[in-house]
Amino acid sequence: MEIIFENIIVYSVVFLLIAIIFFVYLRVSAKKSRVTSEKIEKAKEFGIYEPISLHPVVDTETCIGTGACVAACPEKDILGMANGQAHTINASRCVGHGACFHACPVEAITLCIGTEKRGVDLPHISQEFETNIPGLFIAGELGGMGLIKNAVAQGKQAVENFSKKKNTSSKVQYDIIIVGAGPAGISATLTSEKSGLKYLTIEQDSLGGTVYNFPRAKIVMTSPMYLPLYGKVKLFETTKKQLLDLWNELLSKNNIKINEFEKVENIEKVNDYFIIKTNKASYTSAGVLLAIGRRGTPRKLNVPGEEKEKVAYRLIEPELIQKQNVLVVGGGDSAIESAILLAEEYNNVTLSYRGESFSRVKPKNLEKITSASKLKKVKVLFNTNVKEIKDETVLLTENSNSNILEIENDLVYILAGGELPTAFLEHTGITITKKFGDTILKHGK
Ligand SMILES: Cc1cc2nc3c(=O)[nH]c(=O)nc-3n(C[C@H](O)[C@H](O)[C@H](O)COP(=O)(O)OP(=O)(O)OC[C@H]3O[C@@H](n4cnc5c(N)ncnc54)[C@H](O)[C@@H]3O)c2cc1C
Repeated sequence: MEIIFENIIVYSVVFLLIAIIFFVYLRVSAKKSRVTSEKIEKAKEFGIYEPISLHPVVDTETCIGTGACVAACPEKDILGMANGQAHTINASRCVGHGACFHACPVEAITLCIGTEKRGVDLPHISQEFETNIPGLFIAGELGGMGLIKNAVAQGKQAVENFSKKKNTSSKVQYDIIIVGAGPAGISATLTSEKSGLKYLTIEQDSLGGTVYNFPRAKIVMTSPMYLPLYGKVKLFETTKKQLLDLWNELLSKNNIKINEFEKVENIEKVNDYFIIKTNKASYTSAGVLLAIGRRGTPRKLNVPGEEKEKVAYRLIEPELIQKQNVLVVGGGDSAIESAILLAEEYNNVTLSYRGESFSRVKPKNLEKITSASKLKKVKVLFNTNVKEIKDETVLLTENSNSNILEIENDLVYILAGGELPTAFLEHTGITITKKFGDTILKHGK
């Protein structure tokens, strides 16, 4: 009798424990669902729910809700859990790490480009990375696949494929001209050097590519990359500086010079060679590799004084700028993040935006800039346009009444988006296709 009674107590305790655990689990997952749903609503409100490029698509039939994808994503809030399954939140912020794709234990994630609603223009390229124009190759993010390691791999492969096909002609100055010195262009440059090609690399800015245009210092690499003339690079979590130092060291060790601050404006195929026109010169080559990424050229304001040295189109090391009068121009995430970072370094920061409010920005950034503005850490001037940049001041016009404001100024950061490369590609004659949710990476493929 006593044993039966003891057993009943033990079973009851176990049952109670299971019930408590189950209850806690239900509460936690209900809270997670609520948080994710709220974030999705916010993302829709701010126009960042709909993906603009590569993004994960969760197969709800297969997803068992482990949350491994959410935990693996280095960007945070691209994916979240709701009703026991993974859902995309700020999908337009996905940079295509593919960490979610690899982390899912049941292979429920596919990486796609574009959606039914929002098509993405992609150049048509063969498996050898050649476009419809023979001799004109494309590598890196411009072809649709993001990430540093992919760009590096493609830059190398594209030049190797070009080398196999090339027809040496004495008419031209170069075997190949590489346009862009981001990860794809640098890798292509190193491969050209290794293959003994006559090459020239042209970069509209300074070398480094997209990553250096963002104020975020940390770079994540989900797997090692292979760099020509170096070998395996095992940097999983690195900084912009570390990566840039590595590129620079490799280039100088091999006596490679890149033509920086030169923009390629036109590429024309004449018979069997190319004429490449830049804002500085004209060149000829047997082949061209476009490694220009998808971010395009930073948008300029075209106002008097924009050519001054104190004007920049990217913020590289905010920690080196202190106690300055800084004007940041723009209303997107980049402008907001930069303004906040500069304010943290005790600068006197003004953020000028031509719109009447911030839209299409990350909800977190909106919260941060609203708070920084209330605390007078950043002076936000909506409905304003830069009229002129002088040596020690900047003139701003107020849209509503054409009043002119003159503010003290040491530095100007114009972070107002970019002109996309689509028009440039079309003008060059490259076939472009619109992708509406096409699969880029799928398990078993
Ligand atoms: C916010 C953000 C964070 C990211 N974080 C990571 C990360 O942590 N890890 C990771 O692996 N990837 C990350 N990525 C993705 C990664 O930056 C890109 O996939 C990668 O830089 C693509 O390399 P690319 O060489 O193809 O193009 P890009 O890096 O874009 O380089 C293209 C270069 O071409 C130049 N160019 C363009 N037009 C011309 C022209 N007409 N003439 C001359 N030069 C021209 C540009 O100035 C640029 O330097 C991130 C991207 C973003 C936006």
